[in-house]
Amino acid sequence: MSEIASNIKKVKEAIIRAAAKAGRNHDEVKLIAVSKTVDARKIKEAFDAGLIIFGENRVQESKKKADELPSSIQWHLVGHLQSNKVKYIFDLFELIHSVDSLPLAEEIQKRAECIGEVIDILIQINTSGEKTKFGVPYDAAFSVVKEINKLKNLNVKGLMTIPPYSGNPESSRIFYKKLKYLQTALEKENLNLPELSMGMSNDYEVAIEEGATLIRVGTAIFGTRE
Ligand SMILES: *Cc1c(COP(=O)(O)O)cnc(C)c1O
Repeated sequence: MSEIASNIKKVKEAIIRAAAKAGRNHDEVKLIAVSKTVDARKIKEAFDAGLIIFGENRVQESKKKADELPSSIQWHLVGHLQSNKVKYIFDLFELIHSVDSLPLAEEIQKRAECIGEVIDILIQINTSGEKTKFGVPYDAAFSVVKEINKLKNLNVKGLMTIPPYSGNPESSRIFYKKLKYLQTALEKENLNLPELSMGMSNDYEVAIEEGATLIRVGTAIFGTRE
């Protein structure tokens, strides 16, 4: 078994354990292999080992890889999207995890309406308040999510967050709890946003315990990035 295949096996086993610990069905958790900076050959290896969804953070890089790889691969955008790149996302991505402001959402809406498409998105929330992080400020999330949800050509599937970097997975828990809390609060207002994209290589087990439905795992699958 290749190293990548063996890493995937380990991650899948950990997903099953974490879900069981939380009393959840592991089928509720989708694994997204974050393949930014990873070459097409390695992505193919992960695909051959059974992974279907790959996450990228640059539009051009994803497009180039998608052209070289099987068309059955599903690409997700997980990184910040610049408004001048919006026109490229429609043919490429199944889901945009990182809609991080109302102006960006409006820009996507404008383009989507123009070409007559509806696109699935998540709204990125800045749960930590760190100034270096993209995302809708937590305090503004309620009203901004409601505004974005009104945009007809955007299908808001859920919420996403990135916690501050820490070597200790337990430090992420509070931020994942905050995202779950926001989802529950929105649900009470009849806004049903089932997906929670949270959890990376170092803390995805904690994220699963806190309700993640999409985990974004790079290093634990492909090894350390250059
Ligand atoms: C790079 C990246 C990941 C994956 O991080 P790892 O620590 O390598 O698992 C997840 N989410 C986003 C938004 C990223 O940019």
